[in-house]
Amino acid sequence: MAIVVQKYGGSSVADVDKIRNVARRIIQTREKDNQVVVVVSAMGDTTDDLIDLAHRITDQPDPRELDVLLSTGEIVSSTLMAMALKQMGHPAVSLSGAQAGIHTDASFSRARILKIEARRIFKELEKGNTVIVAGFQGITDGMDVTTLGRGGSDTTAVALAVSLGAGVCERFTDVDGVYTADPRLVPEARKLPEIGYEEMLELATYGSKVLHHRAVELAGVYNMPILVASSFTDSPGTLIHGGASMEVRNKVRGIAHDLDVAKITVIGVPDKPGVAAGIFEPLAKAGVSVDTIVQNAGTGNLADLTFTVAKGDLKKAMDVIKPIVQSAGAKDTVSDAKLGKVSIVGTGMQNAPGYAARMFSALSKENINIQLITTSEIRITVIIDEARVKDAVRALHRAFELEKA
Ligand code: ADP
Ligand code: ASP
Ligand code: MG
Repeated sequence: MAIVVQKYGGSSVADVDKIRNVARRIIQTREKDNQVVVVVSAMGDTTDDLIDLAHRITDQPDPRELDVLLSTGEIVSSTLMAMALKQMGHPAVSLSGAQAGIHTDASFSRARILKIEARRIFKELEKGNTVIVAGFQGITDGMDVTTLGRGGSDTTAVALAVSLGAGVCERFTDVDGVYTADPRLVPEARKLPEIGYEEMLELATYGSKVLHHRAVELAGVYNMPILVASSFTDSPGTLIHGGASMEVRNKVRGIAHDLDVAKITVIGVPDKPGVAAGIFEPLAKAGVSVDTIVQNAGTGNLADLTFTVAKGDLKKAMDVIKPIVQSAGAKDTVSDAKLGKVSIVGTGMQNAPGYAARMFSALSKENINIQLITTSEIRITVIIDEARVKDAVRALHRAFELEKA
């Protein structure tokens, strides 16, 4: 019997009818002579609701308590799923992350999986149970519950697929695959039959939330294929794997966008060694992750330093750096919380000139102003006004003719 690992996202288990729908699909997989391990996310917006609840008690919830609170979202969906399966006459058991043997480090709200001791899962499978694992959580050596960071259930699923020796990790959601752009923004976006880890990683990291980037990274390291498909239809889905069309030239594979971008500019910092370290070390200590960083040399040995953070981190970041840059002699610190990020991604862009020019000209035709630009070998990202993100994604989709196969 083969072991199949399936993951169902929050939108697929958002209410009781949807849980029943997923339960029926799990039974179909089981009946094809498979042992099935299922990872579930919390129902709908449960995690957001739990975070709001904590913030109604305190501005700064204790990290340990917050992780236990958030882990309950997935406990609810996993137990309901097991009940639905049993009610349909099918043997099933739910396991929390800890019961499933998912061991993590102790960094609350962003814990990393250290190892999986899968004995209990194997024992349940041998008993004939379908195992429903609560995603997004684990346990430390000191027996504290941790969560893996927002969107972390995808990582749980890939990690389990690897440690249980599954042939593929199936990730079911409310779209039937990975598209050339978010189909909610671009109606003519095209479903990709397959995509390589490298391109998927860039798309996921730069905003395509159909798959979490940490899950893609882990899958790439262990060469675990991921199938992204619909929880509601039987259409074929997208296979993310290592051997996907390596030599496609002159092609942008997809466009990612991210509306969660805020920008900070420190104006007139002394242009000398140690200044950047003096700003970014305290930010890292405060747990703020910084994305795009640009420094321009200004006049008179002064430089302007610009970087982006997630919108939710803007206040914390400003509070941390304001006193530092003041004492370093900077002129001013300004911020803009209404930005977005649009990226074109494709291995075909590697060593091929002209993509940036084409991208910028498509944006200029729409009168979209570019504030910052960053690139990797297979990606070009622009930071623009958040109100223009939708127009930008659509314009680039047309400019690179992504609707055509
Ligand atoms: P789940 O509840 O299953 O975790 P999410 O809402 O987190 O689902 O992710 C699925 C959503 O990702 C889709 O509804 C779609 O709007 C969005 N999405 C963004 N980019 C893409 C893309 N390139 N292909 C498919 N879906 C995308
Ligand atoms: N429920 C968690 C979240 O909303 C984890 C997940 O859905 O993957 O971030
Ligand atoms: Mg999700």
